[in-house]
Amino acid sequence: MSMAYPSLARCRKGASTALLAAALVALPACSDQIIEPDAPEQQEIFTEEPNDVAPILEKSEPEDEVSPRPNTPSPAERPAPAAEPTAEPDADALKEALAITEDFRESFAHGTKPRDHQRYIVLHDTESDADAQSIIDWWDSNGNLVAAHFVVNKDGSIWQCAPLDAIVHHAGFGDTGHNNKYGTTDESYDDKRGTTPIGDWAADYGMNSYSIGIEMVHSSSTGAYPEAQLDAVDDLIAYIDAYYGFESEIIDHKAWRSGNSDTSAEFADHLAHYQAVRTHAAG
Ligand SMILES: [Zn+2]
Repeated sequence: MSMAYPSLARCRKGASTALLAAALVALPACSDQIIEPDAPEQQEIFTEEPNDVAPILEKSEPEDEVSPRPNTPSPAERPAPAAEPTAEPDADALKEALAITEDFRESFAHGTKPRDHQRYIVLHDTESDADAQSIIDWWDSNGNLVAAHFVVNKDGSIWQCAPLDAIVHHAGFGDTGHNNKYGTTDESYDDKRGTTPIGDWAADYGMNSYSIGIEMVHSSSTGAYPEAQLDAVDDLIAYIDAYYGFESEIIDHKAWRSGNSDTSAEFADHLAHYQAVRTHAAG
């Protein structure tokens, strides 16, 4: 972290009997063309009609209802709808696979970061070999109200001490002009408790309101980052991408504030790969 800074949509069918009677009286005017009660042929026809019609109905109705087209399978035969294309990984499943230890500390949350403000993932080194639990305890005890959302141990275990939607003070003040450069000008959701300006050269403070901070347990010039730790960071970034539904830009702390030590020189190739393919090694 390298921190000298304090840093989410009827008709009425019951026609009256009077109206029906009127209709029956009116009927004889045209009824001899239709019904001759004394003419046997017509009566025969009248009575046979239903029988002539019925078989047709019996044949056609079932066909209409069950199989209008021979090649259309019945509902029971239709295969179940195909699953949705799984282009977007499920964030909950990815998080579960990471076995993240949640150890949220209220003092680390400095307001809710609007989802449309999420834009960056800032990578840091702890500049200490102390494990994640110790680091989090130290952050909570030093009074600076500074932390990062995640701490990744050398063995790949991951600790989370603040919700993704919380603003956490991990990036602090950045080079003057960086709020415009990075488009991090709206700091209105950050309570800024505990912050103290560090000088005119680093007067911009917007990054925390637009980012997620990840700390890797590592000290400068102490050698390579263990593969287990880098694999964990790969998976953590994939989870954060799935959570937001887009890829946040990956930067390191010293890009925000020049002169910072983190990330370490040994991380340079990994950072380039993260920025190109979102994993620590070339695809
Ligand atoms: Zn840092």
